[in-house]
Amino acid sequence: MIPGLDIGPARPVRLRHGLATRPATTAAVRVLTGADEAALGGNGPGGEHWVTLVLATVVAELGGSRPEPDELRALSIGDRNALLLALVASTYGSLVEWVLDCPSCGERLDAAVDLVELLGDATHAPSGPRPPEGLPAFRLPTGADLEALAELAPTAPDPAEQARRLLLDRCVTAWHTVDEATLAAVETTMAAADPLADIELLLSCAACAAPVPAVLDPAAELAARLTPHRRLMTDVHALALAYGWTEPEVLALPAPRRAGYLTLVADGEAWDGDR
Ligand SMILES: [Zn+2]
Repeated sequence: MIPGLDIGPARPVRLRHGLATRPATTAAVRVLTGADEAALGGNGPGGEHWVTLVLATVVAELGGSRPEPDELRALSIGDRNALLLALVASTYGSLVEWVLDCPSCGERLDAAVDLVELLGDATHAPSGPRPPEGLPAFRLPTGADLEALAELAPTAPDPAEQARRLLLDRCVTAWHTVDEATLAAVETTMAAADPLADIELLLSCAACAAPVPAVLDPAAELAARLTPHRRLMTDVHALALAYGWTEPEVLALPAPRRAGYLTLVADGEAWDGDR
């Protein structure tokens, strides 16, 4: 192994809600290694079960101790997204860029968001207006709720509405006595309380000034960045040739450091052993 190499400090993340079972509003996420990328890329990627697997891999600490998988499932969707965004930022960089077409005039728009700023803003965002009086007791949707939904075979003509009803059924008590307007108020209150659960940035078209919504899906952003197996092999090949490292040694490198060494090799900086 390379002398002195460790995987680096885990990035601290503040969670808005944490756990109901013990105080846990601080967490730390470690960076992905090549071995992590190989394992996670081979297990999906995508879906809520996959998100739990990712979090079980990288969340080094939750409220002062290493979390159980069920604790990671019990986090709100927004808290799970905060952990995913911190992981993307520390492993692949914090800038996310899109190209979008304006839905009004078709003009092409470049959009960018800094994940570290987004996380900071979300952490400090006010809790929103007071919910209306008379709402039934409810809790925020969690990873466990979305995992349960993912296992359902759609049976209704409108699967999205079926999923919405089932989610509310799991999260709202006294469901049978609640009318549609109250349910809508519950959903609005849930969204305000967990702003990173659904991340939609509102951009403005430079040509026609129309509002252009841009959805940020943290799991999709991570999946799109994972180094594919074929690329990992060529990375191992290049670093094994340049430095004499073994495959496990190369794959144990944090992904940003592997990228750094590959840049050095490409620039002809690698020590050739004979000088
Ligand atoms: Zn436009």
